[in-house]
Amino acid sequence: MSEGLSIGSNDMNKSAHKPQAEIIFEAPLAQGIKPLEAYKEQSWKCVRCGMCRGVNPEKVQTQRYSDSCPAGTRFKYESYFASGRQEIIRALTADPPELEITERLLKVIYTCTACGHCQVNCNPIKNNEPLNAFTALREWLVQKGYGPLPGHNVLIKSIQNYDNPWMRPRTGRDKWARALKVKDLNQEKAEVLYYVGCTGAYDPNFQPVAQATAAILSRAGVDFGILGKSERCCGSTMLRVGDRAGFEKNLAPNLEKFNSLGAKVIVTACAGCYSTLKHEYAEHLEAPVLHITEYLAQLLREKRINFRKELPQVVTYHDPCHIGRYCGVYDAPREVLRAIPGLEFRELERRREYSWCCGSGGGVKSAFPDFAVWTAGERLQEVKDIGATGLVTACPFCEQNFADANTFGGHNLELYDLARLVSELL
Ligand code: SF4
Ligand code: SF4
Repeated sequence: MSEGLSIGSNDMNKSAHKPQAEIIFEAPLAQGIKPLEAYKEQSWKCVRCGMCRGVNPEKVQTQRYSDSCPAGTRFKYESYFASGRQEIIRALTADPPELEITERLLKVIYTCTACGHCQVNCNPIKNNEPLNAFTALREWLVQKGYGPLPGHNVLIKSIQNYDNPWMRPRTGRDKWARALKVKDLNQEKAEVLYYVGCTGAYDPNFQPVAQATAAILSRAGVDFGILGKSERCCGSTMLRVGDRAGFEKNLAPNLEKFNSLGAKVIVTACAGCYSTLKHEYAEHLEAPVLHITEYLAQLLREKRINFRKELPQVVTYHDPCHIGRYCGVYDAPREVLRAIPGLEFRELERRREYSWCCGSGGGVKSAFPDFAVWTAGERLQEVKDIGATGLVTACPFCEQNFADANTFGGHNLELYDLARLVSELL
């Protein structure tokens, strides 16, 4: 993982900051997506083995928590599992096509949370990439005018009009930081760019995470700044629902801005921004990108932050898909949690690359909110069944969905964002 990663101001070069991601499977998730036609052969080769339905059998602990695909587990029919989605691609790319694009078919396609668990488990075919194929399918639908769904269009229009999916004015983007002393990188230089992302900047539930992140960086003496009003959406939402063209429009100005700053590292506390920057931007960026969990682990190792308060509680960690499976960051958040005095850390049955998705990804939270909350509720039950009373994660979308499931399901769990928790215990 990120061991040996220096963030000291004397060693701020790109290679020193490159995290050693622990990718244990061969096909990279949602990276280098090809046109749908390129996945046609793969769709024919799916042997319907069913490995994409459950956790790797060697890792299963109990039958109750052996499912891996939220969409398939919830809706039961084959078409919702990766194997059925492969068949959809086979039929749509046949000449002539063997399937009509209907509202019902679109529903099936867009209930995939893009969690990528199937891509981890699909072993029978060398380099098979089910998730990448499903991403290509969405891009194909958008190109043909069938996608995305109405619930997604609201977000896309907002990004086009306001540079954020929240329909909020650009002038309010730095409001969360106005009471803090944070450098504006449009005015002055800093070694670290803290890329806040739209959710941290605008969502009142996640603004405290942005404030906590800034507080930790200040306390550790990190020379950092933000882009404030000139920060724009990274385009993650567009990518997940298949709007590649919309995403590309945001990519170019963002890259130009990032590379003009002279920052040596880009840090973000948003899982969606992180995987988008790592997969879609990194090749063209002059600075490496770190998730705040990696950065926190390094700050602790370098003793630039220390815990002064205890958390006497049994706590577990949910691996957000976009930090874990998408980017291979598993150890850093655990390292931070294990360093908290008084905290008893327990692992969930489904963890790391076999983690159960929170249910909110891939545009599911906006298009199918009930399904999203059901998926999160499954996770909260899993937390309770290992005897934990606290759940920590590091993704705004997981946190929002878990909070909804906690309320609706009456789970009474304490939900924590890792950066916010660290800030409170320093
Ligand atoms: S694991 Fe792969 S080959 Fe097996 S059914 Fe699923 S998609 Fe098909
Ligand atoms: S990406 Fe996740 S939700 Fe979609 S088919 Fe694969 S396992 Fe199921």
